[in-house]
Amino acid sequence: MCGIVGYIGHREAYPILIKGLHRLEYRGYDSAGCALLGKELTIYKAKGKVSDLEAVYEKSPQPAGEEPTVGIAHTRWATHGAPSERNAHPHLSESGSLTLVHNGIIENYASLREQLQKRGFTFKSDTDTEVLVQLIEYQKQLHQSDLAEAVRSALKLAIGAYAIAVIDKSEPEKLVCARKSSPLAIGIGEDDSEFFIASDASPIAEYTKKIVYLNDEEVAVVVRGKELYVTNLMGDETEADVKEVNVDLSMLDHDGYPHFMLKEIFDQPNVLKDCMRGRIVGDDHNLKVVLSAVTQNRRQLLRARRIVIVSCGTSWHAGLIGKQLIEHFCRIPVEVAYASEFRYSDPVIEPDDVVIAISQSGETADTLAAIQQAKQQGALIYGIVNGVGSSIARESHAGTYIHVGPEIGVASTKAFTGQVVVLTMLSLALGMAKGTVEQEEYEETIKELLLIPEKIEEVLKQNDKIERLSKQFTYARNFLYLGRGYNYPVALEGALKLKEISYIHAEGYPAAEMKHGPIALIDNEMPVVFLTNHHRRYQKVISNLQEVISRHGNILAIINKGDEQVKKMVDSYIEVPETLSCLTPLISVIPLQLLSYHIAVSRGLNVDQPRNLAKSVTVE
Ligand code: GLU
Repeated sequence: MCGIVGYIGHREAYPILIKGLHRLEYRGYDSAGCALLGKELTIYKAKGKVSDLEAVYEKSPQPAGEEPTVGIAHTRWATHGAPSERNAHPHLSESGSLTLVHNGIIENYASLREQLQKRGFTFKSDTDTEVLVQLIEYQKQLHQSDLAEAVRSALKLAIGAYAIAVIDKSEPEKLVCARKSSPLAIGIGEDDSEFFIASDASPIAEYTKKIVYLNDEEVAVVVRGKELYVTNLMGDETEADVKEVNVDLSMLDHDGYPHFMLKEIFDQPNVLKDCMRGRIVGDDHNLKVVLSAVTQNRRQLLRARRIVIVSCGTSWHAGLIGKQLIEHFCRIPVEVAYASEFRYSDPVIEPDDVVIAISQSGETADTLAAIQQAKQQGALIYGIVNGVGSSIARESHAGTYIHVGPEIGVASTKAFTGQVVVLTMLSLALGMAKGTVEQEEYEETIKELLLIPEKIEEVLKQNDKIERLSKQFTYARNFLYLGRGYNYPVALEGALKLKEISYIHAEGYPAAEMKHGPIALIDNEMPVVFLTNHHRRYQKVISNLQEVISRHGNILAIINKGDEQVKKMVDSYIEVPETLSCLTPLISVIPLQLLSYHIAVSRGLNVDQPRNLAKSVTVE
């Protein structure tokens, strides 16, 4: 969580920092701050959003003609200490010379703080972060060292996760940054004389394509006009791996939509084509799925006796769909674990196991820790992520990017469908390699997968209708989402979307399981979203629907186009095009995304930045 930006070079730092913070605001938005180092070191802070920080700056801007060209900035998602101005980063050292921004958690901050207090350091915030800047200053004094050496010494004493950027009034030509378990990217300006620091590539992409992703426990020193210098915590030089990164800048803007979430819902037909591009090859009579990760790791994948999927939130729902796909096409048993539970559950992992990690950002701390553990136990790690060059991508032995472009809205939409498309392609490719899928079904599924973008377009055309329907739910207090088989994880995902952005309590349930408890909740005030567009168990779903109708639930059904039987039974319905059973989630989730979006908008809520949430959960 939280976003870090830094700049050192020849341009005015403030506009670069602010623009960068706006790009990273999806990561955290409870307070923001920046430090500018010119003749003086000036710190600006505000509780709230980046726009609040801008208002603070406007009140006392830097003098014209003397605008600083060095600075660091932060948008926070509080872990330690309430969201407030005094807890906002950057934090200052005792002498006022050093200032630092941090993403992560310093687990041993309490004992470090106590030791520093004994040595006369005073603390002004409730954060764990402040201990780092004080500790760096203390190490600097103790060893009479320069900033970089002091950062290394301090980080050797810190336990936990960090991405930091530090500047020092007494070394004004330098910016030092480091990371462990939290992401950090360094952009090298075109003429190598300026450097950009950020939590991901989005604030850097418009200035340079040359990006270095620091590895864990690496410290980078950037000196204006000189080369980037990277070391490990011992001070030994390590080689900076400079990558060419291409970010589609149009994906970082609203593009005329009122919110990123709506834009990203509408992006789906196009980005899913990107996700399949080059991976589904051949002509109509000879279509195949080619995933390089499957080809390269064929032997190990074929040996797998079990697959464990680890993920969190929406990615976990994609994992539940992945389980059904893999078990159906590959006949390999699959377990789906919450990454946060997996890592502490003393998991049994055999060397022949394959662990699939699913994460939009590729930085989810729990998922990262889970794969590190599984890797130690000998499993092959297969990453399914969106974040190119992200930590999970780098920690995995093999993997497939979902390639849906940056997802900024906090409630995940296109990443979910991208993950499901990748899981479908993976199951088909592996099933074919294993011989567990019939040629006919293989081809039929690929053909139908290729039609999914068009079918999603068809659902999106009903946006106005869904908006109208949503109005009746503005004041609802609870919701139930029901579905069976492939639609059960979609019911969970629909309920999660609604909770996240509209703050309405919602539960997803397998439709037939409902009678074992939640049916007691149903009365005429309970909206029930029923996913009936599933032909394999259609009659069973109809019986479950009847059970809700008998208890006067207010039903909104997602139905296959032309399903006259259900139309007559329910209060309202949304028609979606028919597809194969295993591809149903890719269609039925779309109206649910739009429904939660419109309900949240009609409740006057900030859809892209829901309270208490952040996009990429880089803390445990
Ligand atoms: N732990 C720090 C704080 O609470 C940083 C949080 C973050 O990474 O978002 O201020």
